[in-house]
Amino acid sequence: MANLLRPPPAAAPDWAWFLDVDGTLIEIAPTPSAIVMPEELPPLLQRLHDQHGGALALVSGRRLDNLRQLMAPFDPPAAGLHGLEWRDGAGLVGRVEPPPGLEEMRRRLHREAEQVTGLLLEDKGPALALHYRQAPDLAEYVLRTAEAVVRDHPAYGLVVGKMVVEIKPRGADKGAAVAAFMRAPPFAGRVPVFVGDDVTDEDGFATANAMGGVSVLVGPPRDTAARYGLPDIEACRVWLATSAGTHWIPHMGEGAD
Ligand SMILES: [Mg+2]
Repeated sequence: MANLLRPPPAAAPDWAWFLDVDGTLIEIAPTPSAIVMPEELPPLLQRLHDQHGGALALVSGRRLDNLRQLMAPFDPPAAGLHGLEWRDGAGLVGRVEPPPGLEEMRRRLHREAEQVTGLLLEDKGPALALHYRQAPDLAEYVLRTAEAVVRDHPAYGLVVGKMVVEIKPRGADKGAAVAAFMRAPPFAGRVPVFVGDDVTDEDGFATANAMGGVSVLVGPPRDTAARYGLPDIEACRVWLATSAGTHWIPHMGEGAD
């Protein structure tokens, strides 16, 4: 049985924030581009960022440029594509070069997505994501397809998330991204706090724990390395607002069908 997790403690001034985005700060939508960004959220994150000496980074499966668009005008340090690309605290951008084989996998999966209703291929550059939010019954099929594709390309591995299976170069994950941020200003010397919802966030939780930090699971209880829990996205926003010394005012238009 999954543990019932305690709510996280009040924020301390020496925290460094690492925040997943989809499913943690914003609701997951039928397609990755259909999400709703409450206009109050970027200013709230900006405030938290400024109050902690700039030590707030987004750690997401989305692309870096997509995160920037989403949060504009707030433009914080960030790790995109589960750590395959990043912008550090000094504003320098870096990325992992994809090993050979990507083009062949992209062609194969493109054919699949054309033939299977409800399957969406998202080309993320060095990573490929198969989304099936519109056809949840495809879970088993998508996993088997992705496994077959990476079998021929061992430099690549799978990341299984909510209604998505991603193919990406091995070696980069959210935990490694947090560790890299923590080696340099403005993060170094602070207490890492990782907040996420998905299985891909477990590496982030483990790294935060190993560094004496705080790990927070957003969503229903499950087996997790996280030591604290918040029941949903709204509770997460309230906690972040309280941590920033302000209040979260629910966004009335959000979630309306
Ligand atoms: Mg997430």
